[in-house]
Amino acid sequence: MSINLESSVQYLRGVGPKRAQGLSQAGLPTVRDLLLHFPRRYLDRSSVTSISELTVGDEATVVGEIRAAGMLKGRKARFEATLDDGTGLLHLVFFHQPRIFERRLKKGTYIACTGRIQVYQELQMVHPEFEVLDSLDAELGPDRGRLVPLYPGSAELSTFHIDSRLFRKLIQPLLETDLPDDLSDPLPDHVRSRFGFPTLGQAIRQIHFPDNLDSAERARQRLAFDELFALQIHLIQRRAGMTRGDKPHRYQKAGAAERHLLDALPFTLTGDQKGAIREIIADMRASRPMQRLLQGDVGSGKTVVAAFAMQLAVRSGFQAALMAPTEILAEQHTASLTRLLEPSGITPRLLTGSCTAAVRRDILEGLASGGIPLVIGTHALIQKNVLFRNLTLAVVDEQHRFGVQQRAQLSAKGHATDVLVMTATPIPRTLQLTLYGDLDCTSLRELPPGRTPVVTRLIKESDHPTLWRWLNDRFDKGDQAFLVYPLIEESETQDLKAATVEFDRLRTDVFPKRRLALVHGRTPTDQRRKVMDAFRKGETHLLVATTVIEVGVDIPNANIMIIEHADRFGLSQLHQLRGRIRRGTKQSYCIAVSTVSGGPQFERLRIFNSTTDGFKIAEADLDIRGPGELLGARQHGILNLRVANLALDQDLLEKAKDLAQEVHAADPDLNTPEWATLKRSVAENRPLWTAG
Ligand code: ADP
Ligand code: MG
Repeated sequence: MSINLESSVQYLRGVGPKRAQGLSQAGLPTVRDLLLHFPRRYLDRSSVTSISELTVGDEATVVGEIRAAGMLKGRKARFEATLDDGTGLLHLVFFHQPRIFERRLKKGTYIACTGRIQVYQELQMVHPEFEVLDSLDAELGPDRGRLVPLYPGSAELSTFHIDSRLFRKLIQPLLETDLPDDLSDPLPDHVRSRFGFPTLGQAIRQIHFPDNLDSAERARQRLAFDELFALQIHLIQRRAGMTRGDKPHRYQKAGAAERHLLDALPFTLTGDQKGAIREIIADMRASRPMQRLLQGDVGSGKTVVAAFAMQLAVRSGFQAALMAPTEILAEQHTASLTRLLEPSGITPRLLTGSCTAAVRRDILEGLASGGIPLVIGTHALIQKNVLFRNLTLAVVDEQHRFGVQQRAQLSAKGHATDVLVMTATPIPRTLQLTLYGDLDCTSLRELPPGRTPVVTRLIKESDHPTLWRWLNDRFDKGDQAFLVYPLIEESETQDLKAATVEFDRLRTDVFPKRRLALVHGRTPTDQRRKVMDAFRKGETHLLVATTVIEVGVDIPNANIMIIEHADRFGLSQLHQLRGRIRRGTKQSYCIAVSTVSGGPQFERLRIFNSTTDGFKIAEADLDIRGPGELLGARQHGILNLRVANLALDQDLLEKAKDLAQEVHAADPDLNTPEWATLKRSVAENRPLWTAG
């Protein structure tokens, strides 16, 4: 029988019932799925390097035999092997799931492996890409493919012994037939020639068995473009839905109102802040509802920008709401906005889960009657029974901590509500376009003047005594410090206990003469407020905390941040924590205490140590963890990108966005036949080239 795209893989040569089952379970039941199972990368056999000629820091491919292998038991087991190619020895190290590697890399096995060369006592590769070879000669012979595709594996695939070699054997013959031409190309000719993209068929051939790395990259870009383009179309359509129709409310002209607020500021606004305020006010005055993202690194001064927007809403006779992810932050916003807005006659109220029943009733009544014009709160704000008389402005702080859903729930409390979302997690532009493509964006790139850069140090656990001595000296100089312990959800109780025990030890043994306080997620509200107030007033030297203080907390006099078990934090989290102390004008210090000295966790710390630029950190984080984790699972929904790499494909994304706008303007419902494939895949929310 003849094979077509919909054929089951079981009809392919080399696939018996067992493997067909494995492929099926791995989500690859048909020939089409197999063709769309793209290589993760290529082993470049065209340039195998001798071990004796390896350069530290370079990426290289080495071919040789495993001479020795074994598990190293310790606090964390790892698998190590020694590779010999006749010119020297190379050490291979595997930290994650070491047992799997132990099974595959037995003594006497031939492998080709690719990775970055490091030195740690000896030359080594950590978690290299590798492939087991039958023999050295067969794989290195002259007529062997020069670029060998490596396919993503999975638990199912390895259970059924389906590896890259099998994929190559199955896919190569398919590509030699005319099969890929059956896939209908979602991009019309004129678009392809405009961007110089190969056809879909060519792209699929070249991504599996490229002539060279350039051509593989061109194929990848073409396929990535398809994905990004579909995503941009989706976002544009969503935005068109949100901002459809004019809003009924009109805000007052600027003027005297803003003066009161300007006069209340203890500083002058930065140029970026002024620009942001102008943009936001223009948005609010426009006839369509505002959908704006205010992005600015930690400490860039977003709160005051929001204050201008909120006072415009209130002065015009409407209500505004500000939602923050933690009670600590909501309380802090209430205090600082009260200071800023009271001179204009506006008193904000605070609504959180810890409000007493009486206070809560009072606030709910005030919001429903319109008596309370400005409310600040946590998730408590989006509960069903919170009703507003005329909410026209919804502000969401630390937006990345909320889902898209929650943003929508808050704005749904008003009619055609203007929405301002703020985030301190610097988002690479690619991600911003992908995640927030439906929002206009304003950035605060400039930090307020007079901030001295934070000095960051990585130290080991054994350096603690020195750290404590240094800290004692700093306390004498009037400095204040945070000391943060990680709190991981799975081991929350244990972690909390560890933090409490450490706190007691620090208080009694290490700093008996100093004032220390402890705050964590389970601290009762009253006590937490007292602790934070005392710290804010400078009455406490050292505030021991879990990550409840991670986002938003602003205590200008605190200038030291000590992060224990820093290797257990993500890069963005570390950056947020360091952001807590770059506030005043004093020299500030961030000390990251690490329990590891190698491996991927240490790599993270090394990056953290090397830059304080939030955008660089975010890009590195995106690189390391991928977009899903960077933004939390909640945001994951639309990010099922298979080929596009948000850390690399910024240009492509911009092109995709421009094209999407063009197409949307000319044909908003995608009714012309040339967009039929695109329309289907957007509607079904799946990658373009599977809509065939
Ligand atoms: P973030 O952008 O992280 O939310 P905040 O709004 O908390 O930053 O502001 C950080 C600190 O900087 C606050 O103490 C705030 O009062 C101060 N600040 C804001 N704008 C300026 C400015 N233009 N000049 C000096 N200090 C400022
Ligand atoms: Mg903030």
